[in-house]
Amino acid sequence: MTNNWSVFVLEYAYSHEPWVGLVKGMEKDGMVDLPYSFVLATKGDRRILVDAGFMKTGSEEEFPRKFQVKQWISPLRMLAEMDVRPEDITDIVVTHAHFDHMGAIGEFPDAHIHIQKTELLTWYEAIALPRRFSHLTRIIDPDTLRAALNASIQHRVTLIDGDRDHILPGIHVRLAAGHTAGQQIVIIDTEKGAHVISGDCIYTRRQLTGHDNNGVYVPLNNATGTVWDQLKSIDRLNDAIDGDQSRLVILHDVDRWKGRPVVAEVEGYRVVQIV
Ligand SMILES: [Zn+2]
Repeated sequence: MTNNWSVFVLEYAYSHEPWVGLVKGMEKDGMVDLPYSFVLATKGDRRILVDAGFMKTGSEEEFPRKFQVKQWISPLRMLAEMDVRPEDITDIVVTHAHFDHMGAIGEFPDAHIHIQKTELLTWYEAIALPRRFSHLTRIIDPDTLRAALNASIQHRVTLIDGDRDHILPGIHVRLAAGHTAGQQIVIIDTEKGAHVISGDCIYTRRQLTGHDNNGVYVPLNNATGTVWDQLKSIDRLNDAIDGDQSRLVILHDVDRWKGRPVVAEVEGYRVVQIV
């Protein structure tokens, strides 16, 4: 069997916030309606996710307010539209532990979680620090870490140490620190070449091409890592797509994956087929 996966992006929320809160040098770009999404990849009977979105339960309830997420639909509702039940998901590859990427992992009882060792262990360390350090964990939902610990106790977590090919057949990861300490980008083999899920390395193509297309990488304004690491990670992303932006999937893509077919829509939230 080939390792060619089909790749779908599922939208599940929107925030309304200033561009400059996300990306440096965008003081004059005003507000943005920012989509939140995760990826469903399918191959034969296999169903896996890259990230999982967030639910609105427990301590997670306060996060949409805090981050001006005004519109939301359950990620499970979007998956149901694709005839996928939570127990169908065998694996979740997590780009990073922010609430909007990892919040819903507890909803998938049989899924194996694949996350960088540095990412998960650093957040355990950061959340244990005195409260005066809590700026570090402002985008981390404690319940997400509890869910990760529960999955760990059930032997459903693999802590990945750096770059790995074929963590699942045709699925590869590259360490891409900067936004967080151990973010990873995810490469998925498809019949149209390797497609790359950006995590939050970038929110806009402009970070790759430069303001005014000047070719200078643009760092984030919402990172806990260094600018140095962020720019090296944007370069790794560029390497992974081999400079071909048609193979790049930005999870918070303001252009809503333009040019790709919309295969389902629920209350305005779209499922877009990338490949
Ligand atoms: Zn993030």
